[in-house]
Amino acid sequence: MRGTFKIVTVADIPVKLHWTFGLLLLWPAYVAYGTGFQLGLVAWLALFILALFFCVVLHEYGHALTARHYGVKTRDIILSPIGGVARLERLPEQPWQEFSIALAGPLVNVAICCVMAPYFLIYPFDSVWTIARQLLQGGSAPTLADLSLHFIPILFMINILLASFNLLPAFPMDGGRVFRALLSIRLGRRRATQLAAYVGQALAVGFMFHGFYQGVFLNIFIGLFVFFTAAQEYRVVRLESLLTENTVRELLRRQFTALRSEESLERAVEGLKQGVEKNFLVMNEAEKVIGVLHEEFLLEAIKQKDESAPVASYLSDRFEVIDPDTSLKTIFLKMQEQGYSILPVYEDDKLVGVIDVSMMNNFLRLQQKLIK
Ligand SMILES: [Zn+2]
Repeated sequence: MRGTFKIVTVADIPVKLHWTFGLLLLWPAYVAYGTGFQLGLVAWLALFILALFFCVVLHEYGHALTARHYGVKTRDIILSPIGGVARLERLPEQPWQEFSIALAGPLVNVAICCVMAPYFLIYPFDSVWTIARQLLQGGSAPTLADLSLHFIPILFMINILLASFNLLPAFPMDGGRVFRALLSIRLGRRRATQLAAYVGQALAVGFMFHGFYQGVFLNIFIGLFVFFTAAQEYRVVRLESLLTENTVRELLRRQFTALRSEESLERAVEGLKQGVEKNFLVMNEAEKVIGVLHEEFLLEAIKQKDESAPVASYLSDRFEVIDPDTSLKTIFLKMQEQGYSILPVYEDDKLVGVIDVSMMNNFLRLQQKLIK
């Protein structure tokens, strides 16, 4: 993802910071300014932000490690001022798997609270909120001794808030996924997502109204964000189910140019210029597929003015044979994960056509227009 940089990799999952995270440092700076630069106070706040984001990272690892348990990889964990996201490579197949993955995050916050709970045996239970408010407004400074005493209680409260806010039944919050997973058991993923999206949007409208009447700008913003995320989530799932329902047979291209490894690239370049074919199969004399020529490699050859080179020098031998009854979703995942650009389709040991990445993209583009 652009604008992010990696800070650490734990359990094979890179944790990255989004550049806007830097904005969060404005808060200690603001407090420092408001309190006449008390170094102790600023250090406390910096430490607190660190602790808070450590909790957020643990929350995301809750999702990521549960996902791994079900064989779903996590690309990375991205931290921004509004929280963290564990970017999973795909949605898990079974509703109860999604249910556990989504629930694992908030449960981590609950677990953190449990760990901190013994502190309240010695803690004089006066108002945590007074301190929190003083910090947020940057007004009259609480003393450092006061703050040190409140470090754990404030972190405790924030973990409770994190768990409960995330459990709201609306996308992109974890609660939205928990809700969708529960509905999926009876309704299937597509209908469940549609219903969960409606509920989320109703909640979002409530948020916006509340924000509007109370003059809380943040609530209007959250409401808008939730509203559009819900719609987006449904579009993605709708496309996904279209990919699941349709097979290679529906997209299969029967006319294609097969290249020989010893011929020059000129025929391929010609095809690319005409725009119908972008990736090519390469066959031997026995009409057996021995490799593929990717558009990217071909473009590289054109850039190097190397069109007279034999196909063999730009050939890739990574491909697999596809059955026409394979779902488009399987092909889509294969293309994403393995980097395939074109695949030969065989029926009863006979080459019947090809499917390539531009056909897949075209299919998705078309469906996206039809869904709107
Ligand atoms: Zn979460």
